[in-house]
Amino acid sequence: MNIILLGPPGAGKGTQATNLEERHSMLQLSTGDMLRETRKADTELGRQVADVMDSGALVSDEIVSAMIDAKLESMDDSIGAIFDGYPRTAAQAHSLDDILAKHGRKLDHVIELAVDEDALVDRITGRFTCANCGEGYHDRHKQTAESGVCDKCGSTDFKRRPDDNEETVRTRMQEYRAKTAPILPIYEERGIVTRVDGMASIDEVTAALDAILS
Ligand code: AMP
Repeated sequence: MNIILLGPPGAGKGTQATNLEERHSMLQLSTGDMLRETRKADTELGRQVADVMDSGALVSDEIVSAMIDAKLESMDDSIGAIFDGYPRTAAQAHSLDDILAKHGRKLDHVIELAVDEDALVDRITGRFTCANCGEGYHDRHKQTAESGVCDKCGSTDFKRRPDDNEETVRTRMQEYRAKTAPILPIYEERGIVTRVDGMASIDEVTAALDAILS
């Protein structure tokens, strides 16, 4: 099973991808996470990627498609792929078709997480994660049980994404509206799109996704 989670920044794609990984034989392929690794490197590419990400614009189609191709190359055939944050443009959608065909895979579902955009800025600007285990938290909606201590692993080290500020978030949403939302019809024509209410609770969204995958 190979699926795409589609939705604007803050729709819950990453959270849901992690939930699905745990219960299904699937792996999250997040181009955002891959690029965050790339930007850590003290190289020309790392610096270029960091500048683009911090502005909220999109990294080039060639770079992200090559990352997805390499990741699938390294994956066992029996493991399904959850594409999170990819494809984001029509060119990437076409590349994904070629890449999947090359690896003998097919796309089973495109799941659109539908959300109210005004709520997204609130969601994104308050989120942070445990620097040790990656557990997600929120200033207003999901605080740690004990202040400053991760519920899951006990670490006191937390981090925030540099692009989770209001100005960059607005640009990321514009990019989504202009370049990513228009790829939905490509998949609608194939009859593989399901819309899920991304404003429901995390557990409700997970249950809806489970029902689609079962
Ligand atoms: P995300 O973690 O998916 O919100 O992505 C964070 C940032 O990484 C985006 O705002 C883009 O700058 C970049 N990015 C992630 N995935 C892609 C992609 N598929 N195409 C182009 N840029 C991407």
